[in-house]
Amino acid sequence: MSHSEHKKLTRAQLACLVEAWQAREMGYVGAPLRGSGRRARNLRWLNEHNLLYRSEGRDGSVLYCLTSTGERALTRALQPRPERAARPPRRGGVCPNCGTRPKHVYASGKTDPYCTECRRERQRACWARRTEKLLAAAAAGEIACKFPGCDRPVYYTQNYVSFYCSMHAVYQTRKSRLKKARRGRNEKKQPERA
Ligand SMILES: [Zn+2]
Ligand SMILES: [Zn+2]
Repeated sequence: MSHSEHKKLTRAQLACLVEAWQAREMGYVGAPLRGSGRRARNLRWLNEHNLLYRSEGRDGSVLYCLTSTGERALTRALQPRPERAARPPRRGGVCPNCGTRPKHVYASGKTDPYCTECRRERQRACWARRTEKLLAAAAAGEIACKFPGCDRPVYYTQNYVSFYCSMHAVYQTRKSRLKKARRGRNEKKQPERA
């Protein structure tokens, strides 16, 4: 389903996208969105329509990541720019960054502004910047624990920032270890995960 087919997103759906976007801006892969009833339905709908990507961690935790489609939908919803529709879509051409390789074309037929190599390079650089920012924010105690009702600063190491404070990070790790141990008992022979 292409984005143009999407009807206007509801406020609640947009709120989910904004939360995922905020998490990403802070350097996280996604946001640990949860909810029941309408919110759960919205999350499912956003995932089914490729606006959010539901990612399940090895410890069973679930993150919702903003997809590029979701980001476009969000941008469009937050600042409508009618002149954009009038502009004809640009396809193909040479990457403006290296000036030699052709622009990356997705399976959907859409063209990236950059070539495959430059796109990857930019993503890596962007990732590094985000991680640095996130680590600085965590070190400054600006990020609060995601555990319901807890507002202690998150736990972090040299190159990792947890969603939780030191107390709840330990709690989450224990929970995931317990889960893993139980899984190991149930499925005796399981291929080693990378
Ligand atoms: Zn390039
Ligand atoms: Zn906490």
